[in-house]
Amino acid sequence: MKKLTCIKDYLMTPGPTPVHPRALAEMSKPVIHHRTPAYNEMFQEVRDGLQYLFQTDDPVMVLASSGTGGMEGAVSNFLCKGDKALVVRGGKFGDRWSEICRSFGVEAIDLEVEWGSSVEPDRVAHLMEKEGDVRAVLVQASETSTGACHPVDALGRIVGQYPETLLIVDGITAIGVHDIRTREWGLDVVVTGSQKGLMMPPGLSMISVSEKAWGMAERSDLPRYYFDLRKERKSLSKNQNAYTPAVSLMVGLREVLAEIRAEGLENIFQRHETLARAARAAVEALGLELFARGIPSNALTAVCTPEGIDGQEVVKTLRGEYGVSVAGGQEKAKGKIFRISHMGYVGAFDLITAVSAVEMGLKQMGYSLELGAGVRAAEEVLMS
Ligand SMILES: *Cc1c(COP(=O)(O)O)cnc(C)c1O
Repeated sequence: MKKLTCIKDYLMTPGPTPVHPRALAEMSKPVIHHRTPAYNEMFQEVRDGLQYLFQTDDPVMVLASSGTGGMEGAVSNFLCKGDKALVVRGGKFGDRWSEICRSFGVEAIDLEVEWGSSVEPDRVAHLMEKEGDVRAVLVQASETSTGACHPVDALGRIVGQYPETLLIVDGITAIGVHDIRTREWGLDVVVTGSQKGLMMPPGLSMISVSEKAWGMAERSDLPRYYFDLRKERKSLSKNQNAYTPAVSLMVGLREVLAEIRAEGLENIFQRHETLARAARAAVEALGLELFARGIPSNALTAVCTPEGIDGQEVVKTLRGEYGVSVAGGQEKAKGKIFRISHMGYVGAFDLITAVSAVEMGLKQMGYSLELGAGVRAAEEVLMS
């Protein structure tokens, strides 16, 4: 049961994340028809905003699905049965790339990365050379299950040397958080979802496709129907979607994209970086360990649970008694970590709230700490 004073709920999970009030207000309006000039105009703004967000001139398509639908489309549109795909597997979402490949008959070559680490680009280069005919490299820009990033800029330089290999990036907790330069870095296919860095409810996936990737799409023979991106691309010429779009989410997306432009990408990346540094400082000040040993993600902080305390119990206590939702560990990290998100519509005092709840919750569970030590460390970073 919730403590007497904890009457509010705070969503601090790495998806879904808090929704921007401007989007909430817009999404409550009556639905407009999608084959109308009013819709076309609105969709044009969404498309422009997405190109700004993804840092590309290539078309970015919007699908009514969660992020995983976009990941499926990123495989099924560009590869062939029996193709080799090199998968960077350093967490649950790396595993997902492998599973999608295998379910389409693509031969996934797993490059295992220890959970919490970032892939060393040289390992990718060597494996590509050894295998010879790898048609795609699949990776997470930010591996949400561990809180670590993979260096997609360096991978772009490697894969760019192969005219018939695509770099396919799951940017679901990186777009709108980290400086991901889709065009400049040669990221051929980049996927994101609405409920992570975009300050939106779940339900949309967005996918950018390079010229090189459209070329590969010509030879692709994998089965697909709804997620056929060539159909979406054709509709774009009329400023339309192939099928009925999620109209209400689309108008919300227009609002958050306008907010993103107003704040500016540089400021957004800086904000996430500062919040992430504050979170990490708080964790260390409380004598806790960070789970990510590689490049840390600025979207979330994964914390190792102290000896003798179960990570799932931390999540239960914080949500149940304090009204603060953080996420537990997944798969092999289950019980061992908990994850605090600071991506999207999150400001300094949301983070302070989360740190404070962690302090109170852990103390209550028997972990010895000085109340306020984490909050103070976070405040010092936020003020510097
Ligand atoms: C959340 C997430 C996904 C899955 O997205 P869904 O919207 O749940 O389908 C995939 N990859 C990463 C890195 C994520 O954070």
